[in-house]
Amino acid sequence: MTAPAVLVEDLHVAYGKTWALDGVDLTAAAGSTLGVLGHNGAGKTTLIRTLTTLVRPTVGRVQIEGLDVADATAVRRRIGVTGQYAGLDEFLTARENLELIGRLSGLRRTARARADALIDRLGLDEYATRRVGDLSGGSRRRIDLAASLVGSPSVLFLDEPTTGLDPIARAGLWDVVDELTTSGTTVVLTTQYLEEADRLADHIVVLSRGRVAARGTPTELKRIVGGKVLTATVPTGQLADLPFIPDTDHRVDDGRVRVSVTVDDAPAATELVAHLHRGGIAVADLDVTSPSLDDVFTHLAHAGAHR
Ligand code: ATP
Repeated sequence: MTAPAVLVEDLHVAYGKTWALDGVDLTAAAGSTLGVLGHNGAGKTTLIRTLTTLVRPTVGRVQIEGLDVADATAVRRRIGVTGQYAGLDEFLTARENLELIGRLSGLRRTARARADALIDRLGLDEYATRRVGDLSGGSRRRIDLAASLVGSPSVLFLDEPTTGLDPIARAGLWDVVDELTTSGTTVVLTTQYLEEADRLADHIVVLSRGRVAARGTPTELKRIVGGKVLTATVPTGQLADLPFIPDTDHRVDDGRVRVSVTVDDAPAATELVAHLHRGGIAVADLDVTSPSLDDVFTHLAHAGAHR
């Protein structure tokens, strides 16, 4: 039987007295995309740093394609990392950066050809001869991604790859990730954007305070919440008159607030809408939707999973 691309068993990582990871188990099958979610401080970066050999496990077993991360040299040959700690030289062009990284990682005469192949594959022609320092954030992310692919990794780690990107740049990067997974690369992705995890990940683990608070496919996670989510914009002055206690409330402007609540099913949502009407609530906008991953997060918080 072939080893999973990523195997983590009973992983604990301590920074002094802080347990950044406190007993994490997970696997990622070869060619799949694993999404790692969690609030700030949940342990996502520590997990990625451990998987990419930058932090040693305090306790537990961590393997990449059957190799223990203690064997850092062998593991590093198989992985690519992009995100918070990949470095590009701002004064070099995209092509020069990719070629340099190729040479540094042992490609000699083939470094230039590898750089050209990646520029072609990731559609980076228009940036190839421009200095990286002159490029927009979105373009830099794509070059950063190309840089992590120079060594032809079979497992790719993307740490918040689209943070701060506009929706078009984000969608462009998602397409590249799709193409990589279609060609067999395993991807481990951390993200603050639940929509991104929904779009890319086959499986998701939700970390909370160094532990796995929930796991499953995006569909399975949404089933945890179940039912329907009713979202309505109402006058702030009528908040106290609502026939339910909102799960979330966000101020829209001085006079209005957007509230949401989860109900059991579509008839219950219909009943609640009628209730709002009968109660004379001046609803400005109303949606009834199936749960999103955002709702899963809210639900986990309410259920006390985020201790
Ligand atoms: P963010 O989304 O903010 O990057 P995260 O989920 O990546 O958060 P980590 O950075 O892994 O979380 O941090 C997990 C916990 O470990 C936090 O409590 C954090 O304060 C702590 N921590 C992280 N790095 C260190 C360090 N070098 N020294 C001490 N504590 C640390």
